Amino acid sequence: MAFEGLADRLQQTMQKIRGKGKVSEADVKEMMREVRLALLEADVNFKVVKEFVKKVSERSVGQEVMKSLTPGQQVVKVVKEELTELMGGEQSQIATAKRPPTVIMMVGLQGAGKTTTTGKLANLLRKKYNRKPLLVAADIYRPAAIKQLETLGKQLNMPVFSLGDQVSPVEIARQAIEKAKEEHLDYVLIDTAGRLHIDETLMGELEEIKELSSPEEIFLVVDSMTGQDAVNVAQSFNDTLGITGVVLTKLDGDTRGGAALSIRSVTQKPIKFVGMGEKLDALEPFHPERMAQRILGMGDVLSLIEKAQANVDEEKAKELEKKFREASFTLDDFLDQLGQVKQMGPLDELIKMLPGANKMKGIDNLKVDEKQLSHIEAIIQSMTTKEKENPEIINAGRRKRIAKGSGTTVPEVNRLLKQFEEMKKMMKQMSTMGQKAKKRGGFG
Ligand code: GDP
Repeated sequence: MAFEGLADRLQQTMQKIRGKGKVSEADVKEMMREVRLALLEADVNFKVVKEFVKKVSERSVGQEVMKSLTPGQQVVKVVKEELTELMGGEQSQIATAKRPPTVIMMVGLQGAGKTTTTGKLANLLRKKYNRKPLLVAADIYRPAAIKQLETLGKQLNMPVFSLGDQVSPVEIARQAIEKAKEEHLDYVLIDTAGRLHIDETLMGELEEIKELSSPEEIFLVVDSMTGQDAVNVAQSFNDTLGITGVVLTKLDGDTRGGAALSIRSVTQKPIKFVGMGEKLDALEPFHPERMAQRILGMGDVLSLIEKAQANVDEEKAKELEKKFREASFTLDDFLDQLGQVKQMGPLDELIKMLPGANKMKGIDNLKVDEKQLSHIEAIIQSMTTKEKENPEIINAGRRKRIAKGSGTTVPEVNRLLKQFEEMKKMMKQMSTMGQKAKKRGGFG
């Protein structure tokens, strides 16, 4: 899980101060010592840590906190706001050209996830923004890169422009842009060559492509798991090429989060997207505030709702929303939901987006795999309609019968009923959060 260590430590620290009716300078000092350690352990750049701690300390002993009625909570708010600021404040949008196509250069070192991200971005542009992208294979040096992009294009059913590996990348870019104009495609995503290390030839070539294609965006793709190396790479690319944004990949595996927290502050360039897995739909726009909330255990309900919207059809979503609100869905709906939720990504990751989820007991047992799902299906199908609608009537005798009928065991039936209850509780929580947010016009 992304930010695991940092989230745990910060939440523990915040927990201590949150309930305090009075916050002294000594309290703040003590808290900041822990925050500092937590950030350093998460591999955040030390200068960034220093600056962050200074800002939070100043604000925490200032009027806004000391005079407030709930100083403990105010300190947590300050930490959240400064974390958000650290990661770039506002969410950063993709630029669009006045006259299409919008050209985006994808740059980065080999293995960072550049080619995969090019495919993911094309997918997102089509799915979320209804755009028509052209993928351009301009990495003529890595033997498999062109093929890889072509395969991605096939999977996505999207055009890929390639001239093999004997034509210069600059010429490939030129012709690709022409083609996009002719065919009224609105985005040109150029997958450029990567190297193992930054070298002058590579930078020279990228500068040539930049000059010729006047891209609206130059996205640097970096592997978040490389921590401060990712930050250094970002700085070098920015110094020579002038990037417009960063895509942080493999955040799904980055338990520390140092790169995500340092890049913006060091390079002054925003993180635009984060890669959360190998699949083509595992790219998310980066929202600093939501990420800060996630780190502090306040949940990320908005992202969760967006994920649901992207995967559930509208009619069903409306029906579901009503059921959420009324907390009136049955085990049949639950079954239906499991299928849909599964499409949204790993369930345990999703649940961790809920406020306070990490403190919920048994949360780690909520993993659902294919086999379990078929068991769940069998269990639910072995229930009577009455039981499905009122699971509270399922007593020991009924549990035994259901287990027998579904070829499972009583503990499995018990577990399912418990999970269902948990889920219902969470849905309820989610819907109250959603309504509050609607009223306020956002989370904060
Ligand atoms: P390139 O050399 O920069 O073009 O890198 P590739 O696109 O070939 O990606 C390198 C590896 O990283 C591949 O195995 C990808 O599946 C994997 N990868 C890319 N992005 C992510 C991500 O966000 N999460 C995970 N877990 N793996 C990723």
